[in-house]
Amino acid sequence: MSSKQQAFKALPSTDQLLQAPELASAIERVGHDELKRVAKEILDAHRQQISAADTPTPAQLDEKQVFDKVCHQVNDILESKDSSTLVSVFNLTGTVVHTNLGRAKLPIEAVNAISMVAARASNLEFDLTTGKRGDRDSHLEQMICDITGAEAATVVNNNAAAVVLVLNTLAQQKEVLISRGELVEIGGAFRIPDVMRSANAVLKEVGTTNRTHLRDFADALGPDTGAVMKVHTSNYEIQGFTHSVPEAELSALCTEHEVPYVSDLGSGTLVDLAQYGLPHEPTVQETLSFGADLVTFSGDKLLGGPQAGIIVGKKALVDRVKRNPLKRAFRVDKMTLAGLVEVIRLYKDPRRLHTRLPILRDLTRPVQEVDSQALRLLPYIKQALSSSAVVTIEECKSQIGSGALPLDLLESRALVIRPSNEVAGKDGFVTGLSERFRSLSVPVVGRIHDGALIFDLRCLQPNEENEFIGQLGQLSN
Ligand SMILES: *Cc1c(COP(=O)(O)O)cnc(C)c1O
Repeated sequence: MSSKQQAFKALPSTDQLLQAPELASAIERVGHDELKRVAKEILDAHRQQISAADTPTPAQLDEKQVFDKVCHQVNDILESKDSSTLVSVFNLTGTVVHTNLGRAKLPIEAVNAISMVAARASNLEFDLTTGKRGDRDSHLEQMICDITGAEAATVVNNNAAAVVLVLNTLAQQKEVLISRGELVEIGGAFRIPDVMRSANAVLKEVGTTNRTHLRDFADALGPDTGAVMKVHTSNYEIQGFTHSVPEAELSALCTEHEVPYVSDLGSGTLVDLAQYGLPHEPTVQETLSFGADLVTFSGDKLLGGPQAGIIVGKKALVDRVKRNPLKRAFRVDKMTLAGLVEVIRLYKDPRRLHTRLPILRDLTRPVQEVDSQALRLLPYIKQALSSSAVVTIEECKSQIGSGALPLDLLESRALVIRPSNEVAGKDGFVTGLSERFRSLSVPVVGRIHDGALIFDLRCLQPNEENEFIGQLGQLSN
């Protein structure tokens, strides 16, 4: 027999593998069919390898060894396939509301409510008084109206959907007037001109990039105008020789022409953040008081809730929005709704909000607290990295993120890791190190700047510290 034939013969059959005691617990976990699929994949790979080898494979393993090896491979593959790719991470990037890292962390009240409606039947669209069909907006609408002073409200899947829905409802095949200074791209394919197109509305630019006046709008208003829109330029600022039309004036002009005035706040908040020592961000209440007929904003940016888009404003317009067939396509899921109800409920007590809402807790965290945390963590990081790295505590600025308040704002502290002098190929060192931090049990995500790996500690809660420290030992493996 040739050595190739011997090698083929040494491979176990799929049936033998399915009977193997070594794989019994795997079958229990993933089921017979999945194990069979993986076993076949691995055996096929082995057969291909044996066929492709042009020299006879030296020192063949005996059958038992081959069997053990294949069992190992099956178990390894099943294990890696069996765990979700969606995992929790430590966000030490310095961007508090990080779109790629899941934006707002939810308060415990929201988490509990979400698991309740997820596991059980609920009165999502059922009126318990009449026993008849109900409306899912009913769980939220009154509360949002009480807090914002709006006449009516509705909720969809995200703010992008809210904007599309509003434009499509008010301005299908009609013009939407918008200042040239507000034709923004939010990132990730949300660009106002494209959004207009997908809403089947016609974008009509008004004014110039840096200066737009009331008369520009007045001149552009006409029988084809479906709406006038203001977009909060959340992720950039135009500075210098600029002018934009005060919202109250624009809204008065729209009222005069009986055209709806809509404002996309993007991040939008329900409290004046200045009361927590943060920079002021336009609130939904202010925007309504300046005369906006509809306002759209995100549930998971500064609001600190689950991903959602909220539409508030005049009842007649919100009713039209609710009747648009797209509303059905964009509606929120029960889990989102349950979480959002609890988050908005916290806004009833603004004085305690910054201790109960994770996003505000992170944003308002005193720098002294971050500093002492850095001091506590420093020795553990140093120990885990040994002499290859120099670790220091440095001042840094966190940012709010997700387009809210674009500039670096919040005084914070970071653990900064640089290669020590003895390490050659320094660029590779820092990227390699950041990869190792990202492969920890709870991946740690920082940022690389100026040849250093930077961990802004603002979003590392004191009660997560032990978990953070506990896994550092894995770095030296
Ligand atoms: C973020 C943002 C959006 C999109 O909101 P999502 O919740 O991400 O869908 C729309 N408009 C503005 C001005 C924004 O900042």
